[in-house]
Amino acid sequence: MADGTVQDELGFDPDAIKAKYLAERDKRLRRDCNEQYVNMTGQFAHYIDDPYVERVERAPLTDHTKTIIVGGGFGGLLAGGRLRGAGIKASDIRVIEKGGDFGGTWYWNRYPGAACDIEAYIYLPLLEETGYMPVERYTRAPEILEHSRRIATQFGLYEKACLQTEVTDMHWDAAHSHWVVETNRGDRITADYVVMSNGPLNRPKLPGIPGIESFKGHSFHTSRWDYDYTGGNAQGGLSKLKDKRIAIIGTGATAVQCVPHLATGAKELFVFQRTPSSIDVRENHLTDPDWASSLKPGWHRHRMENFNTLVSGGYAPEDLVMDGWTHIIRNLLFIASQKGNEALTKDKLIELAEIADYQKMESVRARVDELVEDDVTAAALKPWYRQFCKRPCFHDEYLGAFNRPNVHLVDTNGRGVDAITETAIIANGETYEIDCLIYATGFEVGTEYTRRAGYDVKGRDGKLLSEHWADGYRSLHGIHVHNFPNMFVMGTVQAGFTANYPHLLEEQSEHIGYVVAEADKQQARTVEVSSEAEQAWVQTIIDKAVLRQDFFEQCTPGYYNNEGQFDLRTRQNTSYGGGSNEYFSLIKAWRETGTMDGLQLKP
Ligand code: NDP
Repeated sequence: MADGTVQDELGFDPDAIKAKYLAERDKRLRRDCNEQYVNMTGQFAHYIDDPYVERVERAPLTDHTKTIIVGGGFGGLLAGGRLRGAGIKASDIRVIEKGGDFGGTWYWNRYPGAACDIEAYIYLPLLEETGYMPVERYTRAPEILEHSRRIATQFGLYEKACLQTEVTDMHWDAAHSHWVVETNRGDRITADYVVMSNGPLNRPKLPGIPGIESFKGHSFHTSRWDYDYTGGNAQGGLSKLKDKRIAIIGTGATAVQCVPHLATGAKELFVFQRTPSSIDVRENHLTDPDWASSLKPGWHRHRMENFNTLVSGGYAPEDLVMDGWTHIIRNLLFIASQKGNEALTKDKLIELAEIADYQKMESVRARVDELVEDDVTAAALKPWYRQFCKRPCFHDEYLGAFNRPNVHLVDTNGRGVDAITETAIIANGETYEIDCLIYATGFEVGTEYTRRAGYDVKGRDGKLLSEHWADGYRSLHGIHVHNFPNMFVMGTVQAGFTANYPHLLEEQSEHIGYVVAEADKQQARTVEVSSEAEQAWVQTIIDKAVLRQDFFEQCTPGYYNNEGQFDLRTRQNTSYGGGSNEYFSLIKAWRETGTMDGLQLKP
């Protein structure tokens, strides 16, 4: 136990909190990890149909472009923008996108209340290039979708885009040194380069709850919101639910944003909770025009870097964003700057970070007591884990929604829903009869890359990407893969994880733009990582994973820690353990050497 003085000073016992965190984690660990979720194929396939647009017919294509980008979300938009910057013509960039427009996750996620949970001034890409300033500090989904279209328009990416199109096959044609890509529209097109920007959260998942297939009421996943059924729009106003009993399964970042709207719209709302989210203050506000006009060129990049430095635990002389994400770090810097603490060791800083985290989470738990009237409900809504074990949430109406008489929290004490019948949900041995079931159960993260992408890739000599990665990812910088020349992968695996995901995409796009421009300069037809360089990076990833393992092992399971599963494969399939800041510096330094170290360029 911590001694009495420490407890008196802090107002809580850190050892007791740690023990509670571990006990709550243990309740939730399960053997089936990622296998607990069902694949959305067969009878579940309709859950991922596009509810937003009608299918537009078009003739199959057979032409060649310099680049094909798979995915029209922020990754594809940034890659397109940076390739344009590297001198590639718009007519030489083809984006293939499953949705009916650009926007990626913001195309699909239109649920009521959907909004950016990172400050818009650092989350929205290419703000200076497009000259756009978000209306609010935490911008809402329709504005983000609009901004995606703005980027696509400005960089000419609509010109060759294949929307409502899915890749079905991709293979390397060594004789012609190009990729052949086939789609579900009958296209057979070729490209010198392919950029895979399939998105980290592109494949919605359903929980494998017994009886899920038998439910006969209405149901949908939050990423395909059915406004025909609910009425209203992304701003709320779900007028068709007044006589409906609604159940929502899941209490992650998505549910936190849509529950307040369901609460005001539905006759009865049952919120089925396995693990509560951490809900901190949002305090959104309109953008101050004076502040906006005071910004100097380069502000966007500078602000993104400042945020990322702080949330990665690094030092920055000031905190520009100053919100809930950077709060712990502010605490820590304050402690470190106190007299006598000037020369703290790394271990001491880790210990202080843990205490700062407990303090933060104590305040998050105290906020639940302040806002939720019923004590039992309040107790169940308190999160018992460190703040960054799961995506922290920020909302000013979610907790208060549970004070409404028509809203019922069904806390399952870490077990989840027991069963689903034709008309009801069973949890804690009770049966809840409902009209509509909404799955706020998130997206596949830890499953095979090719399963999430929806296609396999055949590289040199017919080698399959799924085979190459059968024992874990293999890459240089998470981007280049041996035997897969002229292919670039965008994403967090073996790259730098950051809460501000578009920042990573920005860095990777710049990197890809650089490699393509350099290859052009050297008149190379193929660029491919050597087997040795790939192996060296894989080893770096495995070695560095140790730095984060302790933290994640003590967390409640979720997609941040591969559902609590830790083996060599998990360590290999993770992000760079030194953090995103270090990763960004490392790839920048790699570019600055100008030697394309580890890549082989051939004419
Ligand atoms: P999550 O994966 O975060 O949440 C899924 C929820 O479903 C969890 O609460 C999970 O519980 C619950 N669940 C799963 N299976 C069961 C079961 N059998 N019984 C009961 N509950 C179950 O998905 P979200 O869609 O909420 O969020 C995904 C990500 O999307 C976020 O982490 C964030 O990165 C992103 N996002 C970003 C936003 C932004 O503004 N930028 C806004 C919204 C989302 P448990 O925790 O126990 O696993």
